Amino acid sequence: MARHLVDRSSETMAWLTDHGVDWEMEPPHVGYTAARTFIDGVDLVDTLVARVEELGGTVVYDAEARALHETTGDDGRRRISGVEALVDGEPVAYEGPVVVAAGGYESDERKRTVYYGDGYDEMTVRGSPYNTGEPIEMALDAGAAAVGQWSGAHMSLIDGNSPPARGGANRIDGYQYCVVLNHDGERFVDEGQDARAHTYARFGRLFFEQERHEVFLIADARLEEYLWPQGPSDPVYGDTVAEVLAELGCDSPEAGQATVEAYNEACPADGFERFDPEQLDGTAAAGDLAPPKSNWAVPLTEPPYVGYPLTGGITFAFGGVGTDTDARVLDTREEPIPGLYAAGNSVGGLFYDNYPGGTGLTNAAVYGRVAAETAAEEHDPSVAGGAAGEAPADD
Ligand SMILES: Cc1cc2nc3c(=O)[nH]c(=O)nc-3n(C[C@H](O)[C@H](O)[C@H](O)COP(=O)(O)OP(=O)(O)OC[C@H]3O[C@@H](n4cnc5c(N)ncnc54)[C@H](O)[C@@H]3O)c2cc1C
Repeated sequence: MARHLVDRSSETMAWLTDHGVDWEMEPPHVGYTAARTFIDGVDLVDTLVARVEELGGTVVYDAEARALHETTGDDGRRRISGVEALVDGEPVAYEGPVVVAAGGYESDERKRTVYYGDGYDEMTVRGSPYNTGEPIEMALDAGAAAVGQWSGAHMSLIDGNSPPARGGANRIDGYQYCVVLNHDGERFVDEGQDARAHTYARFGRLFFEQERHEVFLIADARLEEYLWPQGPSDPVYGDTVAEVLAELGCDSPEAGQATVEAYNEACPADGFERFDPEQLDGTAAAGDLAPPKSNWAVPLTEPPYVGYPLTGGITFAFGGVGTDTDARVLDTREEPIPGLYAAGNSVGGLFYDNYPGGTGLTNAAVYGRVAAETAAEEHDPSVAGGAAGEAPADD
């Protein structure tokens, strides 16, 4: 699945471009070794909805899928033949093949508690509050295999003042160069163990596991310019670390001050001169510092000090239905369920423990397109390779 995703990613981007998607190169920010391809999510959806309508498709809003229609084919096998929905509160039936592309179960408080543990009902949802996973359950009820890491999720470190849902771009990057303290004023993670792209999606869980789900990012005047705060919080400044922590509401500001002093002692005195934000610079703190600081060990010695509150927010859940590389939903015997397809975060098995940045939208785009292609080939008589008939001029 991952190989196929990678192999089809470039052509999918070209295909989206052909359908009017306009890309920008994001200016390089600290922590990225290169500029990234970038698009505003709202623009992306607006562009593609307009294109769907231009091609004769219909987009229905305020529509909640509630149940799958199942029929039994001539071969005696069950197949999916449509979906029951509530549209503006009224029941409506749609006939035809069904693609489950309803995200994961990350927005359901009960499921977060079941899959991740006590307290996860309190976790902030970064995206849509509607991704509660019922369409995944409908597919499971129809016989789909449950695959992937159900106890895993993309949990990002985010601004501690983010709203309960739809926080959007609310990370505070640059944490890897600095110090993160909990309410006891202690460090609890090697902030610089790896590049931002390899830590941000799993540090959220570590941060959330701390007392009251709150931690505090501390930088000094030299490192502040390497922070990239995208969340709602204003920076808190002070002449000492303790002052900043007290203002942020930390329970143990003096202990935090002592932790930073011990950290400074363990950092090489010329840490800032050796500091290279664009790569793992190998500038490590002395070996007995616990937890260690493996890269970017710069002593925080230049006031004013600056701090932000951080927590962990869920981006998407990792479990889902099993599919093949044609996006056909597989049953527990790994046989395709006729008429049922899935794509994006409703599918499990692609992500375990961590997440490589940028894969979420690529996954949704590649397999969303594959699912539509397969459904059309298998069910639409007007599509080449389909039940019968002429190939259409356009896709
Ligand atoms: C804040 C944030 C930042 C992100 N940044 C990046 C990034 O920089 N790069 C990247 O690649 N990825 C990023 N992602 C991840 C990416 O957005 C997702 O992986 C991707 O959108 C998943 O696409 P999807 O189609 O599977 O699901 P979604 O985009 O989540 O869409 C699911 C849709 O299904 C609808 N739905 C749910 N249940 C039902 C139902 N019963 N009936 C009808 N509709 C239903 C929901 O309302 C929603 O509109 C980010 C996500 C968030 C939240």
